[in-house]
Amino acid sequence: PETFTYKFDTPVYKGETSFSTGLFINGQFVDGSNKTTIDVINPTTGKAVTKISEGTPADVDIAVKAAQDAFDTVWGLNAPGAKRCALLNKLANLMEDHFDEFAALEALDNGKTFSWAQKADVPESIACIKYYAGWADKIRGSTIETTEDKLVYTRHEPIGVVGQIIPWNFPLMMMAWKIGPALATGNTIILKPSEFTPLTALLMAKLINEAGFPPGVVNIVNGYGNTVGQAISEHMEIDKVAFTGSTLVGRKIMEAAAKTNLKNVTLELGGKSPVVIFDDCDLEQAVAWSSHGIFWNHGQSCSAGSRIFVQEGVYDEFLKRFTETAQSLKVGDPFSPDSYQGPQVSQIQYDRIMGYIESGKAQGATVHYGGHRIGTEGYFISPTIFTNAEPNMKIVQEEIFGPVGVVVKFKDEVDAIQKANDTSYGLASAVFSQDINRALTIAHKLQAGTAWVNCVQQLHPNVPFGGYKQSGIGRELGEHALNNYCNVKAVHVNLGHRQ
Ligand code: NAD
Repeated sequence: PETFTYKFDTPVYKGETSFSTGLFINGQFVDGSNKTTIDVINPTTGKAVTKISEGTPADVDIAVKAAQDAFDTVWGLNAPGAKRCALLNKLANLMEDHFDEFAALEALDNGKTFSWAQKADVPESIACIKYYAGWADKIRGSTIETTEDKLVYTRHEPIGVVGQIIPWNFPLMMMAWKIGPALATGNTIILKPSEFTPLTALLMAKLINEAGFPPGVVNIVNGYGNTVGQAISEHMEIDKVAFTGSTLVGRKIMEAAAKTNLKNVTLELGGKSPVVIFDDCDLEQAVAWSSHGIFWNHGQSCSAGSRIFVQEGVYDEFLKRFTETAQSLKVGDPFSPDSYQGPQVSQIQYDRIMGYIESGKAQGATVHYGGHRIGTEGYFISPTIFTNAEPNMKIVQEEIFGPVGVVVKFKDEVDAIQKANDTSYGLASAVFSQDINRALTIAHKLQAGTAWVNCVQQLHPNVPFGGYKQSGIGRELGEHALNNYCNVKAVHVNLGHRQ
């Protein structure tokens, strides 16, 4: 396979990166079995920056064999927790050494701003790997009281070979969320990054070797969803699949698992998260947070606060200030120091988002601000605010995954809860009020895996994250995520009871 060498010469970062663009199988970089490649597009220009090897189902088979061998010999129950801990910490330290290089690669193929990748993606990914390094030697079962002639205890054993399929919106962070708990608990991995954003995973592969993980413990098979992704979800020798992405594909993965070996499935899917703003909020803060909630990462966040419900008394003032904030956000080159928002990730996403904006107009909502392309090259879209939207409109019900927020008026608490929960999703939610009783009562009534009080988009490696309703199954992060990667075995020991 080829080596990708790239010199960044930008106002915010000057440096060079270099790594193989092959598939990473059994500790080696190799070509795909068909020798075909996928272009990696820079969304700022719409032009290719490099090509990566394209994997096939045959490559998945080879990777699974390597992962199984590693599991049976050098990993799984053969690698003590302290060793897994040391390797994960080593990996986190190497990531720190390449901190800005990671941020630059995220900006290059995802289009997120270099400064936000520095503030969020890279440090949070490192923190996640360190957090799970800490768990690696603390995996434990329990002894359970039954009768005095019996000893019963549980063991939390690694599941085995796990498949992990991740999206393009937080390429490095999604990888960290997936590999951290899987490796801490002793599983071996076949990871498929998104075909749109494969670069940071390849740099990670290089560092995984450098850290000294035995070959086959982590395998990275780049490729398309309907080939490599499907092969992972159908594979008879993969015991678990963890997926982050769209609800549509999540359904396909469950179906594939059900039709083959009933592999364990966890899903982290889309959202249409409500932000509920009461008259008694700190309005300046509510405006600032709501803007961040929908416009951060260009709206390409599963927990984006895309439905903003504002109580009648502050509606006009909120809308005025929220619009001014949207106007002030600088959209432009991800490597420019003052850019807040870069391009959307791909032509496909650009078209999808513009399609939603058109549908909102066609169904009678008002484009209060934005709604148009910015510039003539790349996939830049203005921050967009819709008003006069009805509950059944597509822009209110469906995940747009772009910088498009809908602002809706509400009357009282009952009305707010009814409107906020009127969705098939349930990933995140937020409430703004200075009245602690009201804020917490509402937070408890919102049907979502996360409820933020007087803030949005807060994540922490120690804290579980996941969806109610059609936003997913299972929880990532925190101690909870360890359960996704363990089989619990109950051992019954007879202490003398005779048959
Ligand atoms: P997607 O669901 O199409 O892709 C996510 C991953 O699944 C990618 O690696 C893709 O290659 C793979 N995939 C696609 N089809 C597959 C199949 N049949 N079998 C197995 N794997 C398959 O999501 P996307 O194209 O990256 O984004 C589309 C939409 O997904 C977005 O608009 C958004 O609604 C949602 N999304 C959600 C999140 C989230 O964090 N919850 C992240 C990204 C995207």
